[in-house]
Amino acid sequence: MKYYDCHCHIFTQKETINLRLLFEIILDFPKEHEKSLHLQKSLAAKENIFERIADKIQQLKRILNFLKTGFSDSEEDIFKIMESEYNNNFNIAPLMFDLECVFMADRHTPHDFSSHKDAIVSKYEQVVSEFQNSNNSFIKEAEAVLSEVKLIKSLKHNRRGLDELKALSQELNTHFSSIKEDKITDQKMLLSIKSNFDIQLNDISALQKKYPETVYPFIAIDPRREGIIDKFINEIYDENIFCGVKLYTPNGYSPSDIDLMKPDGLYAFCVEHDIPITAHNSYMGFATPLSSVVIKGYIYDNGLQLKDGPVHLKKAFSNGWVQDRATKFNHPEIWEKVLETYPTLKLNLAHFGNGSAEWQEKIFSMLNNPDYPNFHTDLSCWCYVKGHKSEIGLQLFYDKYYKNASDYIKSKILYGSDFYLDLMKIDSLSDYLKNFNNIFPVTEFTRIAYTNAKNFLFG
Ligand SMILES: [Zn+2]
Repeated sequence: MKYYDCHCHIFTQKETINLRLLFEIILDFPKEHEKSLHLQKSLAAKENIFERIADKIQQLKRILNFLKTGFSDSEEDIFKIMESEYNNNFNIAPLMFDLECVFMADRHTPHDFSSHKDAIVSKYEQVVSEFQNSNNSFIKEAEAVLSEVKLIKSLKHNRRGLDELKALSQELNTHFSSIKEDKITDQKMLLSIKSNFDIQLNDISALQKKYPETVYPFIAIDPRREGIIDKFINEIYDENIFCGVKLYTPNGYSPSDIDLMKPDGLYAFCVEHDIPITAHNSYMGFATPLSSVVIKGYIYDNGLQLKDGPVHLKKAFSNGWVQDRATKFNHPEIWEKVLETYPTLKLNLAHFGNGSAEWQEKIFSMLNNPDYPNFHTDLSCWCYVKGHKSEIGLQLFYDKYYKNASDYIKSKILYGSDFYLDLMKIDSLSDYLKNFNNIFPVTEFTRIAYTNAKNFLFG
């Protein structure tokens, strides 16, 4: 018996750039930076210099691991990492991501990347240079403190830590400058965005054909990509490559988008053929940087609103810009409108609304609703055991939502990792799995990672 990881990512593009990775850096580095500042304040600087060096080493190792994994040569390489971390005990459902539509202000119009490129690149450079500066100043400080230390014995031991830290910092800098020099050029970025979807489609199809018993891919469908819904219905679905569909509405469309909702649209087809849909649904993550997008469907802005025209958004990278898009394009109330029309749709709102107590309450009540028998949630990217900033952590999820839930609710909760995007938050996939195994008793883990998964993917 093999378990199922219902939510992971293996996209890579070594030769061009995977812009999604740049965004992960932009979104997550400031948090890492803040964490080390916090640590600096909370520990008496000199006495704890050794712990602080060790902590910094761990932080840089993690980031390096994330970058190396993301810039793997092929999707198969990332798949192989997962196989080995999972001891070949898991089948996986890798989800695609449509990068080009992130820059599409309206359906069937060409993407508008060029007017956002400068802002993205300068944000990337700013975030990376802040990160590098903080590393450099830490190394300097550590050198100064260590040079004061009189105990030769411990000095010898701890110089090694500092040397390791310096080497790591150097290795990271090499990565950052190669990303900048080799990859962030107009041409390569443009090429990457245009070709990204087709490359992913080809790579994941090839991988599925090679490992048909282990790899169950989900195709990314963005209703603004010309012809994609018809192509899926009339061609791609019959090829038996894709197990399900991935939606990512903060990229700039409504869950109740007209082309998803119409009688010959995506949802009707998925209901008819029992095709599972996984939709990103945390209060964090990636979102379109555009300042305005044309919406045909419901948005949530102090309540549900039906739109047929442009919706204006907070300036990209300003305070709360991701939450602005999450609320408007991904609020569970909008998803409930979808379920009111298609109550038997096999829908997984991924991440169980991580980062928003309000969303979690809403999703939990939808899970309990007998009118939506095929509605699910997954626990992908639940990397923390204890609470962390806006996240309640896996332990509290278990105690508050899972432990006393009915069998009906429990049957609708899925295990997922969000690998490799979770590597910004955790050292390895095996550590991620360990957290789950420590909290969920074997029978319960079997329920979410086997019984429910099989039901969701093939039931
Ligand atoms: Zn994901």
